[in-house]
Amino acid sequence: MNDCLFCRIVARQSPADITYEDDDVVAFKDIYPKAPVHMLIVPRRHIASLVEASEDDVAVLGRCVLAARRLAEATGYAERGFRLSVHCGPEGGQQVYHVHFHFTAGRRRS
Ligand code: AMP
Ligand code: ZN
Repeated sequence: MNDCLFCRIVARQSPADITYEDDDVVAFKDIYPKAPVHMLIVPRRHIASLVEASEDDVAVLGRCVLAARRLAEATGYAERGFRLSVHCGPEGGQQVYHVHFHFTAGRRRS
């Protein structure tokens, strides 16, 4: 999977500012942040997109969501709030085909 950027980050073959990791999940800062706090949460295992997710991926995707809670607590945004989003497919704006959750915080939204 060396052709996948996020697999390379997980394998420490490409640099990233890693903010959280456990057995299933890695989180790192988005290189082009769109909010004051912008991190990406990825499963270690390669899943190309949400439309390719299967029953086998339920646990690891749940762990990504729990990692968001931990990041919120660690950054002080658990109470203030944050946004968790997934881009899927060409019309969903997905650019990197390894499932990732965008964790953004620190911007008041209307
Ligand atoms: P998307 O596939 O549209 O959900 O977004 C991919 C995200 O990955 C964008 O927000 C990029 O800024 C981010 N990104 C691309 N390359 C890197 C990298 N090497 N390290 C961290 N974030 C990256
Ligand atoms: Zn990958």
